[in-house]
Amino acid sequence: MSNVDKHRHASGEASDNCLFCKIASGKIPSRKVYEDEALLAFHDINPWAPVHFLIIPKVHIASMAQVTLEHEALLGRMMVLAPRLALEQGCRPYPEGGYRIVTNTGAEGGQEVHHLHIHVMGGPRPWLRG
Ligand code: 5GP
Ligand code: ZN
Repeated sequence: MSNVDKHRHASGEASDNCLFCKIASGKIPSRKVYEDEALLAFHDINPWAPVHFLIIPKVHIASMAQVTLEHEALLGRMMVLAPRLALEQGCRPYPEGGYRIVTNTGAEGGQEVHHLHIHVMGGPRPWLRG
């Protein structure tokens, strides 16, 4: 990654090479679950569970490691949205049902796509993973 790219990542601009920026801008198609001006939710292409979708901010943030206080409201919106969409997508209600919310961070955290996202997984078990 060049210094220019590093700066653009740090400043939260879309990265030309970022898969989820391309999904957020519609350059790469996705099966949309929800969209507003700040967030996009779409089905994971390789689901582990009967319900498995991702919620991303439209702004490029590489991971939780880059999160600062300026992102407080955005992260709050993502977390408030997750339970609502989980039920809409067919997860059964708490406590019998429920769902798992996961954010992988960095290589040892299992992160493959370096644009912040939360996985929301649920539905009847067994699941493929998790
Ligand atoms: P991570 O390992 O970074 O936490 O998760 C990345 C997730 O993105 C994986 O679960 C993977 O299946 C999903 N994914 C990777 N490429 C695409 C894609 O092009 N479209 C969609 N919808 N999901 C993708
Ligand atoms: Zn991005």
